[in-house]
Amino acid sequence: MVIYLCRRCRQIIGRYEGNWDEPILGLSKLRPEWQKELMEGTNTDWVQVNILCDDCLPIPFDEGLWYN
Ligand SMILES: [Zn+2]
Repeated sequence: MVIYLCRRCRQIIGRYEGNWDEPILGLSKLRPEWQKELMEGTNTDWVQVNILCDDCLPIPFDEGLWYN
């Protein structure tokens, strides 16, 4: 299982019921140094991926923004 956690506010953004190295996630294609920075617990049953949630992104992703 893969759990996406915000690296700033620590809230759980989402989870994926599968292996972290499934091609659809693209995590296994990351450079090793990126994997080391993003992921924790790769040797356990689940992997924690530290990313930024919408609230913590420097520029909040807002789809409406692109059409203005
Ligand atoms: Zn956050």
